[in-house]
Amino acid sequence: MRRKIVAGNWKMNLDYQQGISLFSEIINMVKDEVRGDQHVVVCSPFIHLHAISQLAKGHPRVSTGAQNCYAEAAGAYTGEISAAQVTSTGATYVILGHSERRIYFGEDGYLLSKKVDLALKSGLSPIFCVGETLEERESDQYFDVIRQQLEAGVFHLSNEAFKNIILAYEPVWAIGTGLTASPQQAQEVHAFIRNEIAAHYNQEVADSTSVLYGGSCNPGNAPDLFSQADIDGGLIGGASLKSRDFVEIVKVYNA
Ligand code: PEP
Repeated sequence: MRRKIVAGNWKMNLDYQQGISLFSEIINMVKDEVRGDQHVVVCSPFIHLHAISQLAKGHPRVSTGAQNCYAEAAGAYTGEISAAQVTSTGATYVILGHSERRIYFGEDGYLLSKKVDLALKSGLSPIFCVGETLEERESDQYFDVIRQQLEAGVFHLSNEAFKNIILAYEPVWAIGTGLTASPQQAQEVHAFIRNEIAAHYNQEVADSTSVLYGGSCNPGNAPDLFSQADIDGGLIGGASLKSRDFVEIVKVYNA
């Protein structure tokens, strides 16, 4: 009913040559592994996007994406990259709302909603991230935080537009820390997110939205996480930098 997606987030890693070589390895290893409703997305730094998008041609279940784009369409914004520029590389996805952007670059809900609108207008599918800090989890505020992130970033969209959104639940305390949400903790939040979508849109939209888990996901914990009813794949940081680990995670859906 909904696509199973494993997306890699390379973050600010790999020079140009290293990125091309890693993507070439990934394509060779996954090309016969992804089938049916499965999809693989690699979100690289901007410098790799055009070349890896070329390498992905002919592999309809492998796509490329950016990790950010700017909240204006064009103009005097030195150093920024627009959604339309991302599209022109051949990439079809963009990560928005990642906690590293929210925390280090002060990106708030209003800015993110503008980015989401421009990304959709340029034909990109946003992978929109939500998630609570450790303090918010320990004080039982996590449902409220996630509801607010959804309301500010994506719930202004029409039913039709929302169908192009992929969500990622990424507890901030689990990103890059080696701590992973337990399958039960993750499932609880994923079910909550799906209920919020159903309440805001309808059950059909909720049932067709892919909601990925992210936060220290690796080949060891992916099988238990991905077997949860409302987890539709993963957004993978550290483990996406090693072709073998990333491909092992992709293969969880074939086991
Ligand atoms: C991420 O940054 O999206 C992420 C999930 O990172 P890691 O897998 O390294 O925790």
